[in-house]
Amino acid sequence: MKRREFIQYLSFALLDFKSVFNHSIYSNKDSKNLQILLNPGHNKAVFKQGYGCYMKGVGYEYIINTKIAEKTQEFLHEQGLNATLTRDEIDYLPSIETYLKHNKEDLLEKISEFRKNNTGNHRMPLEEAVIQLSILKWAESQPIDLIINIHINDTVEEYRGKFSGFSVTTSPENGSFEKSKLLAHSIYDSLIMSFKPSNNKADLVLVKQNNIKKYIPGFMMNDYLMLGHALHRTQIPSVLIECGFIDEKYREDNLAISDERVQNEYAHMISEGIILYNNNSQLKPL
Ligand SMILES: [Zn+2]
Repeated sequence: MKRREFIQYLSFALLDFKSVFNHSIYSNKDSKNLQILLNPGHNKAVFKQGYGCYMKGVGYEYIINTKIAEKTQEFLHEQGLNATLTRDEIDYLPSIETYLKHNKEDLLEKISEFRKNNTGNHRMPLEEAVIQLSILKWAESQPIDLIINIHINDTVEEYRGKFSGFSVTTSPENGSFEKSKLLAHSIYDSLIMSFKPSNNKADLVLVKQNNIKKYIPGFMMNDYLMLGHALHRTQIPSVLIECGFIDEKYREDNLAISDERVQNEYAHMISEGIILYNNNSQLKPL
């Protein structure tokens, strides 16, 4: 698409989320049919342990994450790509549950041992860490090319209302860091067509392009367990997307992330980013 047409498309897209439904900016070069794993963040049990966010009038993060992941799956299927969700609103896939059941003790021991010997952020409840590590290890036994973690951001109560915008995180500890970075950049480049990047100063990274260093808001590097971590450096390219903040309002009509139109637009732009990655990685084999 020519730049001018693209800008026209953009203003049209921003005018009405619904107008872009079922239309793709990029055509998918399907010579390599990607197998994508969509991993909506947390679940009900983990939320009960105080992990994942909730806001009165908007809802539970684990439910909204699932809805955005399901909509992303629909868009990807329409473009001829294979996408699987790790869970529905309640349960993980039976094969993930089986993997977890058989390996829970070993994994718990591995994580506890690691936490004893390493300082760092261990805020993730042990139960959640075991689930996320199981998902990674299970995924490695499957024909899965990419993992997309979908979340909603939040902040402490007193800062609610101050922060807005999406962020995309990739981990330098991932065994396929170059591919993960390309995936994160592709999704970032797509999301930024419809949404603003995070205005939280913690959500940015200093990158060097053409010998110039600059900060990119909404682009992060972090060794989260599910992205690639000293505990387990998965070879599967993996990113984490925070679809804005739970208290964020969209467009003039102040839509919340609980509104289906906002969720559709996030899902649409995430799937466009994946298609862009698919096309880019064929142009530039990594
Ligand atoms: Zn989350």
